[in-house]
Amino acid sequence: MTASRDKREGKRGSANASTHQAFEIARERIEPGTSRELDLPVARLPTRTSVDLPLVVRHGTRPGPCVWISSCVHGDELNGIEIIRQVLAATAKLDLAGTLLAVPVVNVFGFIHQSRYLPDRRDLNRSFPGSPRGSLASRMAHLFLTEIVARCSHGIDLHTGSNDRANLPQIRADLDDPETLRCAEAFGAPVMMSAKLRDGSLRAAATKRGIPVLLYEAGEALRFDDDSIAMGTAGVLRVLHSLGMLESAPEQPASATRLVEKASWVRARRSGLARLSTKLGDRVAKDDVLGILADPFGSTVGRLRAPFDGVVLGLLNNPVVNRGDAVINVGQLD
Ligand SMILES: [Zn+2]
Repeated sequence: MTASRDKREGKRGSANASTHQAFEIARERIEPGTSRELDLPVARLPTRTSVDLPLVVRHGTRPGPCVWISSCVHGDELNGIEIIRQVLAATAKLDLAGTLLAVPVVNVFGFIHQSRYLPDRRDLNRSFPGSPRGSLASRMAHLFLTEIVARCSHGIDLHTGSNDRANLPQIRADLDDPETLRCAEAFGAPVMMSAKLRDGSLRAAATKRGIPVLLYEAGEALRFDDDSIAMGTAGVLRVLHSLGMLESAPEQPASATRLVEKASWVRARRSGLARLSTKLGDRVAKDDVLGILADPFGSTVGRLRAPFDGVVLGLLNNPVVNRGDAVINVGQLD
């Protein structure tokens, strides 16, 4: 727990102790017990068309934490949009303590183009904290940080695999921080791991401000994956419940979240067509053959073997691989 977080929570607690006030954002006042859809102006396109950041503010009847849920920071990662829709539907009629800021499509530009990046190929998740006078990506990052993150005590950022890779539903977070660990355990994903902060990421920028952030990775880009969405929706609801915002939440899954100590990609030693004999979540033993690489006529040119005992965390779904490509991600369990 950092000093800055203690200070912020202290301020928040005293502000809410006597009266529960309206929530102010983008020059709007959202009264307790109401929900509002807002559009924050982001930029103008060369056509003069204005582009907005859509968000829902749900301000509870009672004081409590302020939590953001975001998805589509990478414009082609769609599972989180559906998770947010289902979380909003599940909580629509509930008495909420605190405030929920739901931002289903952060990278509006990438989403429109079905691309991970912005039109100038910049990665929004490497553009934080951004600047009000920078590139499009930099300005978007700055807007998100100042309008959303700065108002929040906690955050959940929803992602999927990229580059034809699918991920086992997993939480990546700073698990050395007790509050972040508590939230990660409440989420109840099949696995969780401590992930290094990447310069320029939303998670790094929020962490620097003392705000615990969970990053949920599940499924693959440009798809709605039912299991990933169901686990993500239940996980978000459990976190909100653990923060005292909801009175009930879905039960924890039968098997507790496993801690992944380290993860390593099995890379192709030869170019070829990959035929995998493993799937996400499989338990594997060191040196197990997880798939073969073959030429177009079926002659085997290589085998993909597990580097250690563990669980399959990620898979390449495109069978065409070049030497050196990352094909199967294996995580070593605690
Ligand atoms: Zn992503």
